[in-house]
Amino acid sequence: MRIAVLGAGLAGVTTAWCLAKDGHEVILIEKAPRIADAASGANGGIVSASRAFPWPSPQMLKTFLKALVRNDQAVRVYPMRWDPEFWAWGLRFLGNCHAASYARLLERKVRYVRYSQEQLGRIADESGVAFHRKQGGVMYLYRTPEALAAGIRKVEPMKALGFSFRVLDKAAAVAIDPGLANAPIAGAVFSTSDESGDSAMFCRELAAACEGLGAKVLLDCEVKGLVFGGGRVTGVETTSGRIQADGAVAALGLIDPHLRRQLGADLPIYPVKGCSVTLPIANADLGPRHAGMDESKLVAYCPMGDRLRLTGGAEFSGYGRDYRPADSARLVALAGELFPGATDLARAEARACLRPMTPESTPLFGTARYPNLWFNVGLGHMGWTMASGGARITADLVAGRKTGVPLDGLQVRSA
Ligand SMILES: Cc1cc2nc3c(=O)[nH]c(=O)nc-3n(C[C@H](O)[C@H](O)[C@H](O)COP(=O)(O)OP(=O)(O)OC[C@H]3O[C@@H](n4cnc5c(N)ncnc54)[C@H](O)[C@@H]3O)c2cc1C
Repeated sequence: MRIAVLGAGLAGVTTAWCLAKDGHEVILIEKAPRIADAASGANGGIVSASRAFPWPSPQMLKTFLKALVRNDQAVRVYPMRWDPEFWAWGLRFLGNCHAASYARLLERKVRYVRYSQEQLGRIADESGVAFHRKQGGVMYLYRTPEALAAGIRKVEPMKALGFSFRVLDKAAAVAIDPGLANAPIAGAVFSTSDESGDSAMFCRELAAACEGLGAKVLLDCEVKGLVFGGGRVTGVETTSGRIQADGAVAALGLIDPHLRRQLGADLPIYPVKGCSVTLPIANADLGPRHAGMDESKLVAYCPMGDRLRLTGGAEFSGYGRDYRPADSARLVALAGELFPGATDLARAEARACLRPMTPESTPLFGTARYPNLWFNVGLGHMGWTMASGGARITADLVAGRKTGVPLDGLQVRSA
């Protein structure tokens, strides 16, 4: 089949790869001038299957409601804008913030992220792409013994689900990652199966590998609408003209409202902004060997070749990609505090990017009104961890095969 894949972030590029491997004629269409220009180009780099905690939870209910009245915490909400989309999304999100829903979403998310990490390995092996992959564990850092004890309690449910962790005092953490020698920490929880890598590099190399399999990649090409005939998709209307297709995969991250209305699906996906800074590594001996997260600040860090990336913040403020200088300055300062002397703090590159979040914090797959329009959307806060599984699932659905994991709770519905 000739299949148009709409959007070239993690979801789109991995899907294009799986479809091209299956022998389809793939056209990957991206409105930006380069692959992985949105969230997939600036994320925290951690494949954090062991942290597949659902966002909606009883604890999050308190945080979210508090954020409606004060904006001095890690989650910020700007509800004063009249934004019906935010309120509709927010009500669905709050509706999931109870213990029974949390347990259900946790089971669903863990089942899916495990599968997805396996598929990331399979795609990496099949394609041979380089992306500064670092396997063998991720550090979750705690600054006080009390915080470390809370961190140990936090992973108990994940231990019960089969993930393995090592609890480390500072000396043991430094033995695994000498870059932590000067970090102000009491200890760490080391998640042995998590890994990390540069998802932008992965996407760009994988898109090139798709071209090697005969796929076409169209950049600077915005999808303006779909073309329908006989209740099916027959093509895509783009700024570069009409493209005929036997089917399409929507992997658009955040979807423009005019386009969303055409897709015939219930797509409750709202942007949650985060800030990202990337710093050149000046002295690798002083930098981290493994990716990690400073849990007291909720900031992730990840070595990516000769650069260090730090990301943090969760802000509900619409589709704008602006960021406050204070947010990037906080990340730069943290790079200096955790890894003094490792990076060139004066040459930080900062940007904001938007997580395409569903109210459940799990993605959506399958078809809705049109039988040949598949969805791979809503990767939210863990799209690097979740993309490869979604790509395989989508290719299986296109081929009419049984999917590698059951899709209950992950299926898109008709609008
Ligand atoms: C600060 C931050 C840190 C994060 N850290 C992590 C992490 O450590 N680990 C992890 O697993 N996940 C992380 N994530 C989440 C992850 O980055 C996202 O879930 C993932 O990038 C989403 O991928 P996507 O392909 O769905 O969307 P996107 O990356 O947004 O890609 C969608 C693409 O579609 C294109 N597009 C949209 N509309 C059109 C159109 N009309 N025509 C053509 N093209 C179009 C866009 O330009 C874009 O390139 C983080 C996210 C943020 C914001």
